[in-house]
Amino acid sequence: MATIQDAKRIVVKVGTSTLTYETGKTNIRRMASLAGVLSDLQNSGHEVVLVTSAAIGIGAGKLGLKSRPDDTAGKQAAATVGQCELMFMYDKFFSEYGHIVGQLLITRSDIENEERRVNLINTFEKLFEYGAIPIVNENDSVAIEEIVFGDNDSLSAIVAKLVNADALIILTDIEGLFNGNPREDIDAKLIPVVEEINDEIFSLAGGSGSNRGTGGMVTKLHAAKIAMQAGINTVVMSGADPKDIYKLLDGRQIGTFFMGKK
Ligand code: GLU
Repeated sequence: MATIQDAKRIVVKVGTSTLTYETGKTNIRRMASLAGVLSDLQNSGHEVVLVTSAAIGIGAGKLGLKSRPDDTAGKQAAATVGQCELMFMYDKFFSEYGHIVGQLLITRSDIENEERRVNLINTFEKLFEYGAIPIVNENDSVAIEEIVFGDNDSLSAIVAKLVNADALIILTDIEGLFNGNPREDIDAKLIPVVEEINDEIFSLAGGSGSNRGTGGMVTKLHAAKIAMQAGINTVVMSGADPKDIYKLLDGRQIGTFFMGKK
């Protein structure tokens, strides 16, 4: 069945375009709503992990830069500022709903190195045991290659695998995968279910929608592929109204469902 209704452990990924306005400033309403929904899921017995982007975007906004920096040092510096702001806001919003959050900043080498990976898994498991909500981002301020090549879509799938998640929800600025570009073609239709990601599916994915994040549909497909191979059901859906996650958990069709391998 194309549903994540029964998922116990859920990784939710949210991107820069969802968390910020065109002005580069934080979309407070959305962030507050997301924290409310995830707190509620945790209350109802799910275990939630949040993978968040927007450190660079929010840092650039807070520093008053006109756009996201292009150079590595600029991105890394912006990330240091934005990451503080992000966690400050999440801590505040989740606290309002009675939840505790813990920050994990991860680089690719933390996953590739056996010892560090095991430590990381232990930390996640302890946080679950404590009932705290892990909030993950790439460690942008130290990991040059993460900024240049990395994206949080893949990171979210890697995290989902790491914690043995039952489902991955990727929130973005589009309703899911379409059979055309819905921004240009009004006849483009949402694809509700994908059972296998092949070249044909990849050919449907265009570039990044906004200029504030690094992902686009292509990175979401890469992420879905990693998760599917690990048997994790994945949904790519709009993050415009985080309350739509409730519909998903009620078993309703929303976004594009990528079926995890049995
Ligand atoms: N880790 C980056 C940030 O927090 C974003 C990477 C991405 O957009 O995928 O700004």
